[in-house]
Amino acid sequence: MIRFCVFGAFLLYLVASPVSAGFYPNGSAIPPDLRRNITDNAWNAFLNFTGCHAGMKVDGLYKIKQYFQHFGYIPLTLPGNFTDDFDDILKSAVEMYQRNFKLNITGELDELTLQHVVIPRCGVPDVVNGTSTMLSGGGRRRTYEVSFSGRSQRFHAVKRYSFFPGEPRWPERRRNLTYAFDPRNALTEEVKSVFSRAFVRWAEVIPLTFRRVESFSTSDISIGFYTGEHGDREPFDGFMGTLAHAFSPPNGHFHLDGAENWIVSGEGGDGFLTERAAVDLESVAVHEIGHLLGLGHSSVQDSIMFPTITTGRRKVDLHSDDVEGVQYLYGSNPNFNGSRTPTPATEQRDTGSGNSGAAGRIDGYSSVLTSLLMSTVGLLMYIL
Ligand SMILES: [Zn+2]
Ligand SMILES: [Zn+2]
Repeated sequence: MIRFCVFGAFLLYLVASPVSAGFYPNGSAIPPDLRRNITDNAWNAFLNFTGCHAGMKVDGLYKIKQYFQHFGYIPLTLPGNFTDDFDDILKSAVEMYQRNFKLNITGELDELTLQHVVIPRCGVPDVVNGTSTMLSGGGRRRTYEVSFSGRSQRFHAVKRYSFFPGEPRWPERRRNLTYAFDPRNALTEEVKSVFSRAFVRWAEVIPLTFRRVESFSTSDISIGFYTGEHGDREPFDGFMGTLAHAFSPPNGHFHLDGAENWIVSGEGGDGFLTERAAVDLESVAVHEIGHLLGLGHSSVQDSIMFPTITTGRRKVDLHSDDVEGVQYLYGSNPNFNGSRTPTPATEQRDTGSGNSGAAGRIDGYSSVLTSLLMSTVGLLMYIL
């Protein structure tokens, strides 16, 4: 049985300190002086460990142990003052990581493994208290095989969706959820509409609705862009690295890294794809909403709930793995006919008001946690 941290509700008192977050219709709209190279990603330094294996001692190796601990591959119970030795702890962490990402299980920091490690990703851990949420074990229905009957073919699929420990979900009486944006981010309507499109993708398959409201303090789901430490002891790490994180039900907190260059147009043309140092906002939003609903990470690479996202790539359509997982928690939307036709983002775009297509930067905020109160049984805070 997985044991996990249960926190009470967090009372966050946010102290504003302006930072900036960039939103752009496409990669080429990023001003030249703000364009970043993908190699600016702090994790890229891990590539220097290529070829490291058990028994070696390499300067700075402790940093990759911290990385693996952050994502659950090294238990949080171990103190974080790691040595630079490639010890058994690191070896088993590497092996578990390779298993989750379907890499050759070598136990070494080989080239392919490290190329995966440096890909920007969701901040939610893949492993909780030593049990992977991405593969079988630790919970029922984590992994099974199912056959689908297609129109003209029959194929076999392996289900890899997962849930948070205890399978938390929004209760029956809360099927019409509200969401609001941190008013201090002063987001444009265009940016907000990206999130509404992302919510629709989930609402199409389950009997839940999502309605935008103005009250940030009372909404079920609260969305904000922050940098660095921002009140939940899960500081963002600047450009690339961790892109966002969200908490399991019924917490509702959804945080995004204000240091990224976010693409909001919902289009993924060639020009965008070549701008690899920018991230498609809707792709990340769809993923994090999956966490808000109770889904953990999946080892199916094409699923929305796969932990990493290749910069420059747009991935917004729910995979059958995502649909099966979320319908296990909530049942099916009566109007869902079992298949989704990928819809061009422009057809769902909120045309409400202003700033369409404009590149721009907004004021964001960093914040600090000043109190931790209000213990509430059953509220699971999930640190990604
Ligand atoms: Zn995630
Ligand atoms: Zn956070």
